[in-house]
Amino acid sequence: MKIVNITAVYPNYRNVVPSWRTHLWQIVVRVDTDVGISGYGYGGGGRAAVEVVNGHLSELIVDKEIDSVDDIAKLWDTLYSHSIPYGRKGIAIMAISGVDLAIWDLLARAEGTPVYKMIGPRQKEGIRAYATGADPEWYRAMGFTAHKFSQTWTSDVDYEVAIERSEKARKLMGQNALLMIDTYMTWNREVTIKMADHLKNYNIYWFEDVLTPDDLIGQSELRRMVNPILISGGEHEFTHHGFKNLADAGALDIWQPDITWCGGITAGLRILEIAQEHGIPVVPHRGGEVWGLHLIAASSCANLAEVLPGSRNAAKDDLWIGEASAINGVIMPSEEPGFGVTVNKDLLP
Ligand SMILES: [Mg+2]
Repeated sequence: MKIVNITAVYPNYRNVVPSWRTHLWQIVVRVDTDVGISGYGYGGGGRAAVEVVNGHLSELIVDKEIDSVDDIAKLWDTLYSHSIPYGRKGIAIMAISGVDLAIWDLLARAEGTPVYKMIGPRQKEGIRAYATGADPEWYRAMGFTAHKFSQTWTSDVDYEVAIERSEKARKLMGQNALLMIDTYMTWNREVTIKMADHLKNYNIYWFEDVLTPDDLIGQSELRRMVNPILISGGEHEFTHHGFKNLADAGALDIWQPDITWCGGITAGLRILEIAQEHGIPVVPHRGGEVWGLHLIAASSCANLAEVLPGSRNAAKDDLWIGEASAINGVIMPSEEPGFGVTVNKDLLP
């Protein structure tokens, strides 16, 4: 089938968090074909990525034949190479991610199969979901057995705060729960080492994004210093080229590519190949959303998917109808064709 049209739009979000996300949060990409089938994808990069898709990538995509996963990979390579002067990382790759996912959705819909079946046989019966957020009582009540909370750095009082939060989470979630901490690039070497010592009684599984993603050597050194706590990261890294650099530097114990940012399923599969060569577990960022979930279900990704339930009664934009949800802490993609979701047109411009 031939692609006849591709359009990216920025949704009319009502409940998006401020700062860069106001204008640069997720985009929706739609591809249409000459056989009447359309596919939808989800990318990052906001209004800037909309311009990348509609203003440049679309001219490379329209009239292309898509009949196989190989065709998608070839198109990915074309988009990557033509966007190198302004791309390689960041917004351009976030835009390509949305395009890639829309075309995977399209091909799976054309074949009447869920995306994960096009990736390979199902490798997990149920995927363990972990709840990210600040409401462990609620997560436990919903049946989650794994939880990640935020602990950003402001001053020395944060050591005490981190101990309190860890103790509370461990008590609520139980001895067998996985507990993780996201630092969102606010810690440094000294803080990370001290935190590992202060929190040693709480069996923390990983510290996420402790330094900036540019400090590969610093992270590789911390891996050895805070063991057995693992150093994770990768939501701010892009494509197999970027993850190859992480592997060469030995920077991280666990990789967390965001499938809607790092280059889509196509890049995700290439990243997984490198991860397997190096024995590195891959736990996609926001992997409980369908875009990552299909990859987790049918690939060598670790059996762990991030879910963001937010807080009880908080308003949320339901952009995708049919998203998978965790039941008793376990999540799986649906058997519906494509990614199994439809876009909520009320939120589109
Ligand atoms: Mg994070």
